[in-house]
Amino acid sequence: MQNSKQKPKVRAVREPADVRPRREAPPLPPLRLHVATTSAHKLAELQAMAADSGVELVGMAALRGADGAPLAEVVEDGETFVDNALLKALALVRATGQSALADDSGLTIEALGGAPGVHSARFAGTPRDDGRNLALVLERMAGLPASQRRAAFECVLVLAGPIAEGPLANRSDDGIAWRAVRGKVEGAIAEAPRGSGGFGYDPIFVADGLEGTFAEVGAAAKAQCSHRGRAFAALLPLLTALRDHASRPRAPLFLRTIGVVALADALATTLGQGLRHAVKGVEHALHVRPQLGAHERAAVSALLHHALRRLAVLQRAVELLRGAGGPLATLPDPRTLRPSDAMALACLTVADVDAEGIPLPHRAPGEASALRGLLQRRPDWVPQLPAPQVALEKALRTATREVAGLPEAAQRAAQIGVHPDFLAGLDASFGSALTERLVQALALPGPPTIRCREAKALATLRRDIEGIGVRTVPVPGLPQALMLLESARITALPQFANGGFELQDAGSQQIAQLVDAEPGMAVADWCAGAGGKTLALAAAMRGRGRLCAFDVHDKRLGEARRRLERAGLHAFVEVRALPPTAAGDEALGSFDRVLVDAPCSSTGALRRTPELRWHLDADWLGRMVSEQLAIALRASRRVRPGGRLIYATCSLMPAENERVIERLQELLGWRLLRCQRLGLADSAALALGPWPPITGDGFFCAVLEREHGEG
Ligand code: IMP
Repeated sequence: MQNSKQKPKVRAVREPADVRPRREAPPLPPLRLHVATTSAHKLAELQAMAADSGVELVGMAALRGADGAPLAEVVEDGETFVDNALLKALALVRATGQSALADDSGLTIEALGGAPGVHSARFAGTPRDDGRNLALVLERMAGLPASQRRAAFECVLVLAGPIAEGPLANRSDDGIAWRAVRGKVEGAIAEAPRGSGGFGYDPIFVADGLEGTFAEVGAAAKAQCSHRGRAFAALLPLLTALRDHASRPRAPLFLRTIGVVALADALATTLGQGLRHAVKGVEHALHVRPQLGAHERAAVSALLHHALRRLAVLQRAVELLRGAGGPLATLPDPRTLRPSDAMALACLTVADVDAEGIPLPHRAPGEASALRGLLQRRPDWVPQLPAPQVALEKALRTATREVAGLPEAAQRAAQIGVHPDFLAGLDASFGSALTERLVQALALPGPPTIRCREAKALATLRRDIEGIGVRTVPVPGLPQALMLLESARITALPQFANGGFELQDAGSQQIAQLVDAEPGMAVADWCAGAGGKTLALAAAMRGRGRLCAFDVHDKRLGEARRRLERAGLHAFVEVRALPPTAAGDEALGSFDRVLVDAPCSSTGALRRTPELRWHLDADWLGRMVSEQLAIALRASRRVRPGGRLIYATCSLMPAENERVIERLQELLGWRLLRCQRLGLADSAALALGPWPPITGDGFFCAVLEREHGEG
């Protein structure tokens, strides 16, 4: 039986596993970034947020054009905040030839149909006048009760120019790279202006959770929760990751023949298990070859990921080497590959890339592949090849040409390296442009992410991890999380053995946060698996109340028990295997929160299980749907009146997410408090040009609340 919940509950840290203590990561060079604003207020707010970050922000007022004249402000006639911020950022990049940052922000008020929105600066006409704008809002809202005074500030920050380059960057018509981040704060419009700080609409906006208006609470309190503060909190890790990336020299693939053998070994294990557990396969192949250095391990691992993406083309090349003839009618199915194909696949993989690991086009004989380089250094290894080098290269050229002649859907699936059914499913829900981006993102390594046991211990842990040479970035909105910008065996740190931190994707941490478990509540983690979210829930409950970890698979709960023990939480959490049917569930009691982290297609976590891409046929994608609904319904019966059901998956597919929630709402009639896509599953964020090495896996989460009176 295949593991229906393919995602590994304990996220493996990417190899290579360099355990030797290294020198502290060298500091990043300071960055001077132009800001496309003439507003002294905005600039001051941004500069205060950037203090101590190594980023110096320079306002437009200090800049001059090539003719020595001050730079002109652009006309903000875009329809969205992104459009306007982009107009400003691109104009500044064009004027200076250097990277720039631009902000566009505004207030959206529900009762005014979203106004003033993008017209916030000139709501009362030109020239812009904050006092008149504010007065006009109050006039339009006069007499409205508190329930109709809801509003939100939004801010978009666009980063444009050379600093934004890299995978998934957006591009202007004239080729300038850009990426954007957003921040939003919800609140209400006050009856009258209050306070003298801030600017614009600050005197009439009261953010949720604050007592006074933004003009009353002071700059620091505003920055903590404001739209600009939140956008900037997302921008800083992006800037750090981009600068870190740019500071790394591009190195050639470090590969010896033992590396090719390790790759073949990893492929053979993976194929021997029916194309499963590739990450474990490569970990094992590297583990049994301790003579491999860190760079070589990285190369083997990168080549394995490359081989898995290119598997359909490589498979055709293997068939051609075996003498298959005739035209190629359909895309080969990599699930039919055998372990005996592994050595040929490994050599073809090394022939498929250049000395830096960049894929070759295979247009003509004689392309300088990594295999050529290797054989020049080790001509004695030629007899070990499963076929002569020229035959391997020819097979790749023919396979590439044949695949290019397939119908478009099959061709695209082979090129981006996923099952055609999965591609069709993504196209249908994301559209083809976003699908290309998403698949590109899914092909890049995801960030190793940790959850520190306590938010207050994060700064120390961060220092310890940076002390072994690994740069880290915080995760906006998750005060206990840290993302690593490179791999390292951080589980070898003593803090891990002591339960000081866990490995957990940002999305999983966010879901645990959305459960909103509080000390003293009764909470059930219905599909607890290896217990990652249970641990996060236990931390939120601070050892008070009742927390249960349930699962129908007792074996999976074994890992949860071990992890709870390590974290010293085994006495607090009740771990129990559920019978396959609901009979007897009443004895479990009822709960304020029931989290259903449902078994799913795991498409959002493809970066952690890269071989899964070839298993994602229509059958795989659809087979969980009825089970998901059944599990959620069974779990919903354990929710108390006034309690909540939290449904989550690591799937990208609407059938397993939004459609299940719609059906649940029909059947239960409960109120939907939240319905959210996270990380790579969030198509709005995907369109802004996220940087995959600091973007969490794709998740979905919805929160349904049962009425108080319902008995
Ligand atoms: P723009 O981003 O320069 O186009 O202007 C947005 C307008 O929205 C500003 O002129 C302000 O009126 C308003 N606004 C944006 N952010 C804030 C804020 O933090 N406080 C108060 N008003 C703001």
